[in-house]
Amino acid sequence: MPDSSFDLSGRVALVTGANTGIGQGIAVALAKAGADIVLTARRDPSETRELVEAHGVRAHVVMADLSSTDPCERIVSETVDAFGRLDILVNNAGIIRRNDALEFTEDDWDAVMDTNLKVLFFLCQSAGRQMAANGGGSIINIASMLTFQGGIRVASYTASKSGVGGLTKLLANEWAAKGINVNAIAPGYIATNNTAALQADEVRNRQILERIPAGRWGDPGDIGGAAVFLASDAAKYVQGHILAVDGGWLAR
Ligand code: NAP
Repeated sequence: MPDSSFDLSGRVALVTGANTGIGQGIAVALAKAGADIVLTARRDPSETRELVEAHGVRAHVVMADLSSTDPCERIVSETVDAFGRLDILVNNAGIIRRNDALEFTEDDWDAVMDTNLKVLFFLCQSAGRQMAANGGGSIINIASMLTFQGGIRVASYTASKSGVGGLTKLLANEWAAKGINVNAIAPGYIATNNTAALQADEVRNRQILERIPAGRWGDPGDIGGAAVFLASDAAKYVQGHILAVDGGWLAR
């Protein structure tokens, strides 16, 4: 008999940036585990919606631009209006800007910090208020290898993802006693739009592959199992953890 502690039936999960990439992979994995899914996107997420509904659960779309905190409270209230509750928040939406540190612009700093860190925090706050009032929930923030490492030519991305690691621990400290588990997943090199430039660069692509013990780029679906675990009762004593899903990158 399968272990029911991984079953998410009857729970409602909100996944940001779910129209593509890792967000789509996570939304589909949570749906497969039984959760109803609220997808936020700024572009048509109907492909993800169809993939989610194929698992026999409900899907609801909230259109939102996460470059500012304006939609944070609306996203949570629309989720509760649609499905009556919010049990799981996956803060996945994120962007990256590449330039030498000597040339890096304030615009590239602010855009990345706003979406990857500021909006992430205020969406945690809106969801956390709802979860605290309803006995608890699970929050999963999407971190990065650059939560642990420095990277190169991605100053604001490294700052934002290092911040995501710190915030995840702070929120775990404040909210664990309220029944809210706050953890993060740090994906390794995953083949998505976010990494298209690296995949297209022959030299960087080879260098990256040489360092990954698994010998391949990750697939968005590779992140889904970690999200199901962290969202489930199986992880109820896991707090403030940053779970690397990286094909062994950090071990090398
Ligand atoms: P992606 O395919 O580019 O997906 C990013 C998602 O975020 C998209 O749905 C995108 O929407 C959404 N988004 C970005 N800015 C937004 C905004 N202002 N408003 C609403 N939605 C917005 O890249 P990904 O690789 O799946 O990235 C997902 C997360 O994983 C990010 O936080 C990224 O930093 C993180 N990550 C990725 C890797 C990797 O190797 N790929 C590694 C570590 C961490 P649009 O499609 O409309 O742009």
